[in-house]
Amino acid sequence: MGKVVGIDLGTTNSVVAVMEGGKPVVIANSEGMRTTPSVVGFNKDGELVVGQMARRQAVLNPQNTYYGVKRFMGRKYPELTPESKQVPYTIRRDEYGSIKIKCPRLKKDFAPEEISAKILRKLAEEAERYLGEPVTGAVITVPAYFNDSQRQATRDAGRIAGLEVLRIINEPTAASLAYGLDQERSQKILVFDLGGGTFDVSVLEVGDGVFEVRATSGDTQLGGGDFDKRIVDWLAEQFIEQEGIDLRKADRQALQRLTEAAEKAKIELSGVSVTDINLPFITATEDGPKHIETRLTRPEFENLCGDLVSRLTRPIKRALNDARLTPVQIDEVVLVGGGTRMPMIKALVRSFIDKEPNENVNPDEVVAVGAAIQSGILAGEVKEILLLDVTPLSLGLETIGGVTKKLIPRNTTIPVRRSDIFSTGENNQTMVEVHVVQGEREMAKDNKSLGRFKLTGIPPAPRGIPQVQVAFDIDANGILQVTARDRTTGREQSVVVQGASTLSEGEINRMINEAAEFAEEDRQRRERIEKRNKAKALTDQALRRLKDVTLDFGTQFTSGYRRQIEALNAEIMESLDKDDERRLDRAQADLQDVLYELNREVRLQYDDEEDEGIFDSIRRTLVGDDDDDYPYTPRDSSYGNDYGTPRYPERQDYGQPQPRYDERRYDERQTYGSPAPRYERNDRYDDQYDEWEEDRPSPRSRRPSPEPRRYPPKDSDTYYTRDRSRRIPKENQWDEEDDDWF
Ligand code: ADP
Ligand code: MG
Repeated sequence: MGKVVGIDLGTTNSVVAVMEGGKPVVIANSEGMRTTPSVVGFNKDGELVVGQMARRQAVLNPQNTYYGVKRFMGRKYPELTPESKQVPYTIRRDEYGSIKIKCPRLKKDFAPEEISAKILRKLAEEAERYLGEPVTGAVITVPAYFNDSQRQATRDAGRIAGLEVLRIINEPTAASLAYGLDQERSQKILVFDLGGGTFDVSVLEVGDGVFEVRATSGDTQLGGGDFDKRIVDWLAEQFIEQEGIDLRKADRQALQRLTEAAEKAKIELSGVSVTDINLPFITATEDGPKHIETRLTRPEFENLCGDLVSRLTRPIKRALNDARLTPVQIDEVVLVGGGTRMPMIKALVRSFIDKEPNENVNPDEVVAVGAAIQSGILAGEVKEILLLDVTPLSLGLETIGGVTKKLIPRNTTIPVRRSDIFSTGENNQTMVEVHVVQGEREMAKDNKSLGRFKLTGIPPAPRGIPQVQVAFDIDANGILQVTARDRTTGREQSVVVQGASTLSEGEINRMINEAAEFAEEDRQRRERIEKRNKAKALTDQALRRLKDVTLDFGTQFTSGYRRQIEALNAEIMESLDKDDERRLDRAQADLQDVLYELNREVRLQYDDEEDEGIFDSIRRTLVGDDDDDYPYTPRDSSYGNDYGTPRYPERQDYGQPQPRYDERRYDERQTYGSPAPRYERNDRYDDQYDEWEEDRPSPRSRRPSPEPRRYPPKDSDTYYTRDRSRRIPKENQWDEEDDDWF
């Protein structure tokens, strides 16, 4: 196998680096530059030009010169914002809604992946020239906010370039890898990356050779280009005032020249405090040729960009929040990307973190260096470094009532495996649908749907009894696999969510913002649904309790309760149907009272029997010596209060049960429920609503201790993914939260 290189495939500039003798080396291109403009073009003879050459022809040949193509990678045409469509070349949507880039010179269209592949190919060739051996593989970096399909598109671009893409890693992660390589003490690092088209901020924890991304945030519609555009607009407005012509609309060439001049001015203002902008023959009118000759000072420029700078602060705050850190807890700040060379940006970071930003690592090269190190890790050249990334958005599934149950929260370190037990929402439900969603909202429909699949063949059983274990597995590349397994039959179904997601950055940001905005509304809706679920669960639980007590003490003992419970259950179902909340509350409270009464009488029964000495020893086993451990004691009636609602021991509304032996009804009732052992089938409800049954042995069970845990045992401390190179932190393993329904 040939060499593996690390490539920073930037929006504006790309860089290639390789491990040589255990050290990362940035490879200069044949033009002698260590960074290569991410520009691809076809010259007047239809020949391919990449990098500086392409950039140079952009003004003369804007229709056949493509820059900023990274913005189109893995995106659908309808996702594009009007601004991102504002390019001097032509983009169109194809019949699948994908983006195609027109090449008039060759009379053909290109996919964004093909254009990116040409940049990757050039970088690989430069590396081959430098190394004198073939380059066959690459580690390629992407912005932290890239979604699945954008990552997939990047991978495809590598494949088109003839490279095996061994790993796609986040740019800030790569930067921190490059930065932290020689660090020994543990520290928290904030990586601030302002590139040409994207802004990423990440909080990392580095120490003991382990890199962990604690949080990432950013704005993928904000970069150095926006600062250029401020100067373009400033120049254009001036020109309108003087000549009455909008150069931005006049012709492509004028816009291209304006943009270039603006960037040049911006870069100069990072070093000097005033710059001249000269654009002769920018356009012509009937009066003859027109020129731009003006001067821009740094304070003027900073003034034009005030709002852009303040847009950078929110993601910083968000990342710190997500990492649960305050600015003072940050040990180091790393600046990445050409945009961080602007004094106003450095000042912003300094004012925020109150630390001198660290610029030891060249901000233009640091990402590629990190990618090269990662390739070294994969090749076994670099050892003892673990690279951990995080999930940018929460992942979960839709449960009963359309509520999202999050399995993997936002900013969870990957690789990660989380699982939970779910059950059916209807009686005799033999199929469950797993609907995987991504986002922060409470309701599944407000989140992004990543896919759905069905698990069939669940043996018919009352709702809530089947146990379906759903596991979410995210590998080191961020590829999600969802598996559902029926724990009774062992039937399993799984899906790999890959490329299915076409979340745009805007969508991600929108989703996060909306989540905050609608938090209260969502909470109320969720509460309402939970209330309804709880009421339904209570009816099931009442019937089960009734059955158990009947088995213990006979139908005569329970027949009065049965009537009340059945009437109240019907009442609850009806008020659910009619959406009558007040009636629901009332019926539910009444049902709880009935259950309380029933339990109270069961207890009295024990007391009576205690006198007879029969249950004496049993009770002692049940209760133990310490009443606190098992609040179920003959003296303590708190078990009537298991639902967290007030109980009214003094209430006698339903009167005393009327014991009446009724053989026929007893037989009838035998058909209720399932043949499964009681503890097996009750445990889901027990967990949430009926601690009494879960933690305290029922009189009937007469068992000295509660049932053993029903969840799979915890794995050992580490869990290895397929490539065995990633250790999953213990907290990312089995998750034992409340159960939910489909
Ligand atoms: P990307 O990661 O998007 O490819 P880079 O990290 O290469 O981007 O940064 C490119 C951006 O940095 C461009 O907008 C460029 O104008 C800007 N830039 C480069 N050098 C400077 C500088 N000295 N001062 C201000 N901006 C700069
Ligand atoms: Mg970059």
